[in-house]
Amino acid sequence: MQVEDIEFATEWSERALQLMAQHGIPPAPDNYSVWFRYASGRVPELNQEIDGRIASALPIDLDTTVSLQKKYLTEGKLADVTLNTGARLNTELDQILKIIEESVGNSTALGTTVREASEGLTSQSSASDVRKAVEAIVNASRKMEQRSTELEEHLQATKKELNELQQNLEKAHTEARTDGLTGVNNRKAFDEALARELDKAGKSGEPLCLAIGDIDHFKKFNDTFGHRTGDQVLRLVASCLKSGALAGHFVARYGGEEFAVIMPATELASAEAVANGVRETVQARELVKRSTGESLGRVTMSMGIAQFKPGDTAASLIERADACLYEAKRAGRNRVITEFAPDQLPKAQTG
Ligand code: GH3
Ligand code: MG
Ligand code: MG
Repeated sequence: MQVEDIEFATEWSERALQLMAQHGIPPAPDNYSVWFRYASGRVPELNQEIDGRIASALPIDLDTTVSLQKKYLTEGKLADVTLNTGARLNTELDQILKIIEESVGNSTALGTTVREASEGLTSQSSASDVRKAVEAIVNASRKMEQRSTELEEHLQATKKELNELQQNLEKAHTEARTDGLTGVNNRKAFDEALARELDKAGKSGEPLCLAIGDIDHFKKFNDTFGHRTGDQVLRLVASCLKSGALAGHFVARYGGEEFAVIMPATELASAEAVANGVRETVQARELVKRSTGESLGRVTMSMGIAQFKPGDTAASLIERADACLYEAKRAGRNRVITEFAPDQLPKAQTG
């Protein structure tokens, strides 16, 4: 969970510690993360459950905290999925091995039965001896057939179980790379994607641009309307970025109120057009407080864009995009600045 505002974080932290003391919960990191989230109100389902328990006078103790962490917090869910997956795979494999061992045992037994029966039969054997020998063989093979049907059924069930486990892991993988507040990619996903795209651009020679955007005067917005309303603005900006980005572009929340768009196979001029489109959409949206219908005015954002050059690292490309963003802020905000190209002067558009 990224929280860059020291005032909010301090307030939430104090509230979390106070609540933990009140419920007799040790302020260890895992427990603290649950109560910090509760104090922040960032995970509505978590607050709903805790408030529900309080309203129904149900206990809220260490056990409750541990189960809430597994249920609602990404890190708790991930740890649970990983542990569960390991344990379930082990049980499944153990069972399959047991059945295979039994099957092998059965087929050895069948072999022995057949051998003994054939050895026991001579040209002098009576019809009843032959019948007994055949019965023994039939019984042994029936037993084997039954076990192999069981094995097949078990393998089918295991296959289903494995599919489910895989889906759980994929879900956990996605969740670990998604920003909980805005639903776009988080910083971890951004770092991975940028490394991947730099590598591709280096090999293919295709253009690659990186845009970094930052909401203008957002501190003032938060101070005026409160962080919950500020959070709504972050969601709005994320959705404008998602709808303005082109297919193949990668939108991420880069930091507190900063977003980034990785634009593979995109020239600086098209990257600039995309960024300006987003900037205009953001500034065109009149913000209205949901609860009261009160108008909150508008927000704007500034963006900086750099284009990949051979030899660039993630850090060097980010640094140049950041420098452009800084320029955009310095030049008056609500604008897009692209980096200096050798044959080009820096350009700025104001809305
Ligand atoms: P500038 O135009 O120069 O970017 O000014 P600014 O006020 O936007 O920049 P500053 O870096 O001073 O403040 C950023 C603010 O972003 C501070 C913090 O309150 C807010 N912020 C960061 N993360 C979050 C968040 O998750 N939710 C909310 N509501 N606000 C956040
Ligand atoms: Mg900022
Ligand atoms: Mg800002």
